[in-house]
Amino acid sequence: MQPRIEPDSTTGTIDIEQIRQDFPALHQQVRGKPLTYLDNAATSQKPKQVIEALSRYYSYQNSNIHRGVYYLSEQATAAYEAARVKAQRFLNAANPAEVVFVRGTTEAINLVASSYGRLVLQPGDEVVISAMEHHSNIVPWQLLCESVGANLRVAPIDTSGTLIISEYEKLLGPRVKIVALVHVSNSLGTINDVKHLVGLAKEQSAVVLIDGAQAAPHMPIDVQDIGCDFYTVSGHKMYGPTGIGVLYGRIELLETMPPYQGGGEMIRSVTFEKTTYAPPPAKFEAGTPHIAGAIGMGVAIEYLEQLGWDFVREQERVLLEYALERLATVPGLQVIGSAESRASVISFTVDGIHAHDIGTIVDQEGVAIRTGHHCTQPIMDFFGVPATARASFAFYNTVEEVDTLTKALMEAREVFG
Ligand code: PMP
Repeated sequence: MQPRIEPDSTTGTIDIEQIRQDFPALHQQVRGKPLTYLDNAATSQKPKQVIEALSRYYSYQNSNIHRGVYYLSEQATAAYEAARVKAQRFLNAANPAEVVFVRGTTEAINLVASSYGRLVLQPGDEVVISAMEHHSNIVPWQLLCESVGANLRVAPIDTSGTLIISEYEKLLGPRVKIVALVHVSNSLGTINDVKHLVGLAKEQSAVVLIDGAQAAPHMPIDVQDIGCDFYTVSGHKMYGPTGIGVLYGRIELLETMPPYQGGGEMIRSVTFEKTTYAPPPAKFEAGTPHIAGAIGMGVAIEYLEQLGWDFVREQERVLLEYALERLATVPGLQVIGSAESRASVISFTVDGIHAHDIGTIVDQEGVAIRTGHHCTQPIMDFFGVPATARASFAFYNTVEEVDTLTKALMEAREVFG
């Protein structure tokens, strides 16, 4: 089924109200006010095309995949594998076998750390990350380094929230076996030039993982152009279901890596003496996968493709610029993070009001924003704040919603004097 997005026949522009009609969650009242959903970096809302695909799967196609010889199982298998091809296309991977379905970015990084990390890391080796990583791109590497006696090195950022590339380069030496970097920071919005950063790591023959959880909803991804070995995405942040995501891995690496979990689906043959494994991606998809989730994620990919990146990027650029302008009018408001290249994510503090109080007050106006450390405690420490409030925009947000946020923040100011 096609998304119902057609440019206006006279102006050629896409009507945002028409797009919003695809998202049932956006049309509800919360606390007696129309919902203003500005927590898209935590999870995006879902278009009805995705919701209907899930409902259709459970209503008419539900069956286990890969094993059945009967009609429904063949249909479900074909739909699941078709979703893999859509994800391959979305990431421009060379081969569908390079697309491993996982629960999301967190599982993808844990998979790589546990499987590839344990395979290659020796005591004294190094893993390089950056100071703007999400906890899910810190803790798995810490666990790995602790268990093998390797060292975690952290490339610093400056006060604009930009990676200091000269310092990153200094860390890249012969002991560095793995580099793991975020593409777009979820709390600062910084967009890293991952192609350049990967190139520098490759000069030292390091294997590079890019955490693309916040990039995939906002920009086209080309893993071959970036040159990374692993790339991770979460379906729920890109208009797809929760509990599904993709680990892209270069086939040469996936082939050499040991399984992450053992069980059904990932084997070629099993005896009590010895088990041999299926080739990738099955080797890394033990057990019954999230079949409906993968199918739904495939529909979300098609939805984004139909919208087109030009529209998504332009809409989000307009929202970001307008929001930065409007938020600057709120007395005592400070934006945390001002990198030159940034996505539609704004973290901020307001003098004299704790971030949680900001969130609670604007919620009374129906405005949903995130408050806290955003799973990036080291970033909070770096900026010397316990928490921030964060507004994050999707293409379906409007400038009127930015005004609603600004008004609600002005009211918060009044409450706290
Ligand atoms: N990395 C980044 C940059 C994120 O924003 C998130 C989600 N907040 C994650 C990783 C983890 O993603 P998930 O919870 O979908 O596994």
